Amino acid sequence: MPFRPRYTGLIAKYLDRLPISDDARILGLGEGNTPLIQLTRIPAELGRDVDLYVKFEGLNPTGSFKDRGMTMAVTKAVEQGAKAIICASTGNTSASAAAYAARAGISCFVLIPDGKIAMGKLAQAIMHGAQVLQIRGNFDAGMRLVKELAEHAPLTIVNSINPYRLQGQKTAAFEIIEELERAPDYHCLPVGNAGNITAHWIGYSECAGRTGDEQLTAACAFCGGQCRYASALVERRPRMVGYQASGSAPFLRGGPVAEPETVATAIRIGDPQSWDYAQAVREESGGWFDELSDEEILQAQRMLADHEGVFCEPASATSVAGAMRDIRSGRIPEGSTVVCTLTGHGLKDPDVASAQAGDAVQTVDADYQAVREAILKRL
Ligand SMILES: *Cc1c(COP(=O)(O)O)cnc(C)c1O
Repeated sequence: MPFRPRYTGLIAKYLDRLPISDDARILGLGEGNTPLIQLTRIPAELGRDVDLYVKFEGLNPTGSFKDRGMTMAVTKAVEQGAKAIICASTGNTSASAAAYAARAGISCFVLIPDGKIAMGKLAQAIMHGAQVLQIRGNFDAGMRLVKELAEHAPLTIVNSINPYRLQGQKTAAFEIIEELERAPDYHCLPVGNAGNITAHWIGYSECAGRTGDEQLTAACAFCGGQCRYASALVERRPRMVGYQASGSAPFLRGGPVAEPETVATAIRIGDPQSWDYAQAVREESGGWFDELSDEEILQAQRMLADHEGVFCEPASATSVAGAMRDIRSGRIPEGSTVVCTLTGHGLKDPDVASAQAGDAVQTVDADYQAVREAILKRL
């Protein structure tokens, strides 16, 4: 009997809504199809009547939403004859690129910032056999280098400036619409390079049959002004809300930030590559950008873990930290349906998680009475 898995990944599922030929050799790991989880205790604690969901993208094969874009980018690169891919990365892009390159049997070069990469992500890139170059500089410096290198060498860039990345990532919006049978009123995301917020807007716009938006057409770069994937599945699109970390918030400062700093290393980016698209998304959707302190981000991360059983990495919690604040203030009104993207898994960054342990870990003697006493004290 041939092996016929039920779900093989987002390219196979959305073949007719992606720029890919029917006979392409698909490089997939079963990415996409992530759960949309309704939060219960957090809305109750906020005391507001909202339908609040998280789309848990940490459950993708390498633990972040990057896999949605990478299955497309690497499938296309291999189809076009690439023997090597390259990216700059705060961590998750390199983990994902390395995994798909391994599957394809091609080389993968990753430029990561010196010392500011979460342990889980580095371990993945190494295990998947990537050539890891740690640069004495930050993500933005790495991005500039990658662009220059790819001009002079046969290397395909798989950062989100590769338009196939956004095409793969738009499918998250498709899945949300399938589950809710409508678009949410608000969609909240953490914003680094701003590729993902752009990709979601492309996805929602296609589902709403919108084809004319000039900026979007440029972001898609495939349909020449007439989106061939437009369908009228839903009537309305959500307001798109992008949250950044205060120390790394170029969209709030109105321009690039030279020395971005935040505990949420996945969004430690000062010079977003999708700047123009993200501004267009905000305008077209009637949404906004806002910023959160590291303390607010970590508090939301803990709350998701200890109130809802969902463990995401710090950058991901930025979406929920922002949504909680805007729900509390009424900027997101009662009666709204809100989706927050949780971009990556909590196990990516064990150091930041365990640094928050406080008095959660208590050492006791391996003795019945001692353990019993410790339990009774906390019961
Ligand atoms: C890449 C990444 C982001 C930022 O996404 P952009 O498309 O760069 O805005 C946010 N969170 C996590 C966990 C990521 O890996």
